[in-house]
Amino acid sequence: MMTPMTDRAVGIEPQRLLVFQTLLIFTVAGCLLFGALNISRGIYPLAAIELMMGGVSVWLFVRSMKDGLTQNWLMVYLALFFSAMMAAIATPESSPTVFVWVFLIPLVSHLLLGARRGLIFSLLFLSVAAVTYFYRLGGSAALLEPVAIANVVVCAVLLTGLSYAYESAREKTERRLQELASTDPLTGLPNRSMLEPALQRQIGDAARRRTPFAMLSMDLDHFKTINDQRGHEAGDRALLAFADLLRQRLRASDLPCRWGGEEFQVLLSDTEPDGAARIAEEIRSSLENMRVELDDGELVMTVSIGVASYPLDAEDPASLLIMADRRLYQAKVRGRNQVVDSRSLPVKWPEAGEIGEAPG
Ligand code: GH3
Ligand code: MG
Ligand code: MG
Repeated sequence: MMTPMTDRAVGIEPQRLLVFQTLLIFTVAGCLLFGALNISRGIYPLAAIELMMGGVSVWLFVRSMKDGLTQNWLMVYLALFFSAMMAAIATPESSPTVFVWVFLIPLVSHLLLGARRGLIFSLLFLSVAAVTYFYRLGGSAALLEPVAIANVVVCAVLLTGLSYAYESAREKTERRLQELASTDPLTGLPNRSMLEPALQRQIGDAARRRTPFAMLSMDLDHFKTINDQRGHEAGDRALLAFADLLRQRLRASDLPCRWGGEEFQVLLSDTEPDGAARIAEEIRSSLENMRVELDDGELVMTVSIGVASYPLDAEDPASLLIMADRRLYQAKVRGRNQVVDSRSLPVKWPEAGEIGEAPG
């Protein structure tokens, strides 16, 4: 199956963006407040860091409203935000209560970066904060008492553990829901909600690497008759058998998908037009020779296939699918159980109103 793009390169999810924007609003307000307080107390370096953080937050907020943000921006921002926090706790003139901000680290890291990166950020900055605590407050015997230290450490560890546990459970549920939403429950194949973005990505990839690829549009022949004569359950078994055949015949880099009903699409990556026609013909003939064992005897079925190649036939997803569908339609018209590709039906774009649904 195709590999998804790394999540660091794509835009962040809406709920994470909302949490981040909320953090930015509070950061701007906090930076203005503490910047002003520190100027009035004459702690200029810290005030400068705070006002700079406020400026970066305003800029990022505007950017996030206009273009959205990537995961990389979140990591850079949190690294800056936590570094400013470390500078604040290390400043000898700042109030000792400034240390309470450190408890935000695990919560914010996990909410914005997810379980794994959130844990790494938490452990890194909590360790720096712990060293700073001893360096800064080492003179105060009351703050070095075992109970005083245990209070701080246990609370920080608990917040880290809870945030990590919650975020990993949430990610697991999200993955499961995504899997359910993008998989056809009968055949276990990806459904069209997975194919459409994969096709979009494949086109970007193919344009960059200058490699061809192909789409196969497939529709099982006279499937209604199978349902009518052998029963709906037999129809389901036949669909499952066809899906298994696709899984066996295709490479791991190809993407077979149940488009709906008895219609399937396959995205063949790195495949020349001739190779695509050969694979389509292999699928067609394997199915013709396959026998599905049913309670009331064997079942034979056939499939019609239309092939469209990138960049030979079209260079955008919609046109590629239309071309594959047109050729599938021709395969049906020409008698079913056959493959139509660019050799048997060269590119000729249809006049308005000429595009029809393939029969069946
Ligand atoms: P053609 O050769 O022209 O494609 O004819 P066809 O009979 O395959 O096409 P038609 O669209 O008339 O019938 C498709 C049938 O597929 C009708 C529908 O009941 C059946 N079908 C769609 N989804 C399922 C399913 O999930 N399970 C079963 N058993 N049948 C299904
Ligand atoms: Mg059909
Ligand atoms: Mg159909």
